[in-house]
Amino acid sequence: MTNPLLSQWDTPFEIAPFNRIEDTDFAPAFKQALAEHNAEIAAIAGNAEAPTFANTIEALEAAGDALHKVLSVFYTVAGADSNPEREKLQRDFSPKLAAHYAAISSNKALFQRVEDLWLRKDELGLSAEQERVLMLTRRGFVRAGAALEGDADTRMAAIKGRLATLGTEFTQNLLADERDWFMEVAEDDLEGLPDFVTGAMRAAGAEKGVDGPIVTTSRSIITPFLQFSPRRNLREKAYKAFVSRGANGGDHDNRDIAAEILKLREERAKLLGYDNFAAYKLETEMAKTPEKVEELLLAVWQPAKARAEEDAKVLETMMHEDGINGDLEAWDWHYYAARRRKAEHDLDEAALKPYLQLDRMIEAAFACANRLFGLEFAPLDVALYHPDCRAWDVTRNGKHIAVFIGDYFARGSKRSGAWCSAMRAQAKFPKEQAPVVINVCNFAKADPALLSYDDARTLFHEFGHALHQMLSDVTYESISGTSVARDFVELPSQLFEHWLEVPEVLEEFATHAETNEPMPKTMLDKVLGAANFDQGFQTVEYVASALVDLEFHKGAAPADPMAMQADVLDRLGMPKQIAMRHATPQFAHVFSGDGYSSGYYSYMWSEVMDADAFEAFEEAGDPFDPEMARALEDNILSTGGSREAEELYTAFRGRMPGVEALLKGRGLAA
Ligand SMILES: [Zn+2]
Repeated sequence: MTNPLLSQWDTPFEIAPFNRIEDTDFAPAFKQALAEHNAEIAAIAGNAEAPTFANTIEALEAAGDALHKVLSVFYTVAGADSNPEREKLQRDFSPKLAAHYAAISSNKALFQRVEDLWLRKDELGLSAEQERVLMLTRRGFVRAGAALEGDADTRMAAIKGRLATLGTEFTQNLLADERDWFMEVAEDDLEGLPDFVTGAMRAAGAEKGVDGPIVTTSRSIITPFLQFSPRRNLREKAYKAFVSRGANGGDHDNRDIAAEILKLREERAKLLGYDNFAAYKLETEMAKTPEKVEELLLAVWQPAKARAEEDAKVLETMMHEDGINGDLEAWDWHYYAARRRKAEHDLDEAALKPYLQLDRMIEAAFACANRLFGLEFAPLDVALYHPDCRAWDVTRNGKHIAVFIGDYFARGSKRSGAWCSAMRAQAKFPKEQAPVVINVCNFAKADPALLSYDDARTLFHEFGHALHQMLSDVTYESISGTSVARDFVELPSQLFEHWLEVPEVLEEFATHAETNEPMPKTMLDKVLGAANFDQGFQTVEYVASALVDLEFHKGAAPADPMAMQADVLDRLGMPKQIAMRHATPQFAHVFSGDGYSSGYYSYMWSEVMDADAFEAFEEAGDPFDPEMARALEDNILSTGGSREAEELYTAFRGRMPGVEALLKGRGLAA
């Protein structure tokens, strides 16, 4: 029987036929797809004809189709619905893949053909997009070490393979700690917890086979637990478990892995002729240099820290009024902040929650995409990898644009966080292909499923990434959708969050789960008024993580990353009641792969732009202004990586933004 991963997919819109794929299909399909890709690469590199754009660059773009299919399916299920077999396969695949791509990017004959085209690029009659793809292809080879010879070449291959393995181990250790730890909570100790929290805690208990409610380190449980539980000792225990993920000693400890990763990254950058890893990494970003990044982060740090320190005093006073002496601790912050928010904004998360139904928030995101870009969403009945997944056919003026898949509920087999990926990216070469895009979240499952306001923002955020994929309109897959500079990729997602704050959106879609009544005007005003609440805390925990990440990579690699982390926080004067959003042993953005290494700052870099970009709609006097929406699609959402990020932004806005818009947006402006 043909392996379903490798056969023609005769499903609606050629979505992977998940119901026919068994875990045992992955390894043989992977092996065969790798071999096919190798044969394609060998044919391109060994072509007797002189290099042309078609026989080299386009041939590279077209190669690896089978491998893309296998990997898109595998990584979708490995991230969103893992099991021991899939974890084992992932450990097996990742070094092989690293070696595979390393072999391609160090293929001298192939690089020579690309280099030859690059040197003759002005004579080739290329379109702007083709020249861009050629430039990026060549730069990829050079940065991967294609120009290296002998020992340096061998060492580079070894470093890359080892880094891939370490990244996977880091992720799996974290997942193991998240899966293993839980705290049973007696019925008496559920005091103060809203029903949605106790419901999620009981469901989590049932999943673990525990007869009763438990706290886990899933954000959908631990965050509201820390907010609502008056049991200070339990908050402390849960908080400490949360921040010690990946640093509990034993087999799942990530501290030595982080140190080895940093050392290897530095060596890799130096082999390529860069002073350090950050210099290498930022070359391809919009920011370009570590200095520019640091300048941005420090400009935000001072006002954020000042605000956080003022807030800490207020919260500590509240705690003393409760009869608890001593200092406010990190496990007290969320609890007193939630009470302060209720007192000052009278915004009660528990009262708010019934108005934020998952299904209605999905409808809200779709409605915004409809008003802005004319997209329509029709449910699609198709077998996916888990019964919780849902799919929609996305059309515009009757034309199929994309398939959108939502996998929203938390479960033990899913890694934490939320993400968007394209199971198939948009392209017109070698044939027209419409994207298949998935959003994965970790919302607590219930009927009806209710979200916190943060959850709703996450939903809009990931949907913004999905729009970047779905509206992509380029020729070549390598630059389509979210294939843009890392510090530009969060612009569409963070920008889309602003539409959740447009009053008419919540007015229409925030309806009560039981009564169907719209959210009362007073509550709506409070939700929107509270948007800046606790921004001192949130900015501090984020900027501290971003500065530690930058420090790790902008000089010599630290022998002891935990000591360097402590040193950076000390120099910054980190408020002791606030922890980094991601401490080193949990910092998957930085250590699970290279994606956000010396790039965690990029969320804030993007926020500078999203605040400024949304202001363009406000200036136009209508959050759904059709001309602005058109400009956004034409210059940013459809263009992928076809031009430099700075050029794209300037084309949309007519200028570059400064940090002021961000401070204003977070309510931190002086
Ligand atoms: Zn994002």
